Amino acid sequence: MVKAVVGANWGDEGKGKITDMLAREADIVIRFQGGANAGHTIVNHFGKFALHTLPSGVFYGHVTNVIGNGVALNIPLFFAELKSLTDRNVPAPRIMISDRAQIVMPYHMQLDAYEEERLAGKSFGSTRSGIAPFYSDKFAKIGFQVSELFDEKLLREKTERVCELKNVLLAHLYHKELLDPKKLLDTLHEYRDMVAPYVGDVSAFLDTAIREGKHILLEGQLGTMKDPDHGIYPMVTSSSTLAAYGAIGAGIPPYEIQKIYAVTKAYSSAVGAGAFVSEIFGDEAEELRRRGGDGGEYGATTGRPRRMGWYDCVASHYGCRLQGATDVVLTVLDVLGYLEEIPVCVGYEIDGAVTTQFPVTCRLEKAKPVLQTLPGWKCDIRGIRSYEELPQNCRSYIEFIEEKIGYPITMVSNGPGREDIIYRKSALQK
Ligand code: GDP
Repeated sequence: MVKAVVGANWGDEGKGKITDMLAREADIVIRFQGGANAGHTIVNHFGKFALHTLPSGVFYGHVTNVIGNGVALNIPLFFAELKSLTDRNVPAPRIMISDRAQIVMPYHMQLDAYEEERLAGKSFGSTRSGIAPFYSDKFAKIGFQVSELFDEKLLREKTERVCELKNVLLAHLYHKELLDPKKLLDTLHEYRDMVAPYVGDVSAFLDTAIREGKHILLEGQLGTMKDPDHGIYPMVTSSSTLAAYGAIGAGIPPYEIQKIYAVTKAYSSAVGAGAFVSEIFGDEAEELRRRGGDGGEYGATTGRPRRMGWYDCVASHYGCRLQGATDVVLTVLDVLGYLEEIPVCVGYEIDGAVTTQFPVTCRLEKAKPVLQTLPGWKCDIRGIRSYEELPQNCRSYIEFIEEKIGYPITMVSNGPGREDIIYRKSALQK
């Protein structure tokens, strides 16, 4: 049985918490795309952790945590993260790294930073983790696969060739220090020795696991709006954030993914540039940011304050549709308990006409939110474990959103911990 946990919005929906929770039943948890450019925050009995590359199953001894071929693997960061766990008394997790995963090179991070610097005010708001240069190189076929670390002749030849190419950019576009192929080769030898104990043929491993009926969890990073094809291009990330890509980024057949948990937050937040229709500003935004998530809405990787907004039914309907949601998980609902009334975005007005279909970016930039205001519930809902015990206005908020997005909300999260979850039967469930 393969399940995917993915984001239906802009990321930071609380996927880490849901994966950590579902991982209890899982044998294998896999990261299938993205890199260390975003983070999951997980709160459990070991403490509070921000994971960037490690799969969220690392807190369970019985789970094998897999880095799939679709991931941008930053080897030093990966091992630093692993150490940060064991330093805090988390038992060393079981890890497997795909021999087909590619490596984020030191020059990817440099080029990312130089490009942001060059673009100055027109930058994409990159986290400078090297993700865009990494995926560009992967598809330009000059990336380094983990397997290539173990072929010395190939590695030497390729290092020379790639440095030659990168040095043209460094010299003439960015006017920065050039790469030394010898130094780069030394770095790659260090990387090889670090990953060697963990490397394996992930798709073969998963094929056997599927045949044996193992429980497998695919863990997505960011959300639909950041997908390079279906998101708010070009203010997107560089690898697909959709559940469908889980098949490719892990190396399994698409029809094996039977459950798709699309995670959506009870209000909106976004990082980086790009149109954000239901965005709010000023004191209203500051209050939600301060109260949001678990300790405020600030980036888990960057510490940047997140942009805040009301719940967006247009974006979330689209987000769930592209993910192919079998289940919607509505998170961080407890945070809204302070509001007298809660506005929800139910449509976009573009050039005088209202639509409920999420448009392409150039039209999205013209969209103004159509808001409908629902009554708040004005109390703390943390600790509640059954749907019927939620205040009436809170249930109405959930049911209103479900009706607007058209996908079944089967779980409601009312706190950051593993146990803060309410299961719900939905009439929309197939
Ligand atoms: P992810 O990248 O999708 O995993 O999301 P992040 O970890 O960046 O952001 C989610 C934040 O909300 C984290 O700080 C979580 O601990 C927290 N969180 C998750 N679910 C809930 C919830 O139901 N209530 C509250 N208050 N916080 C939550």
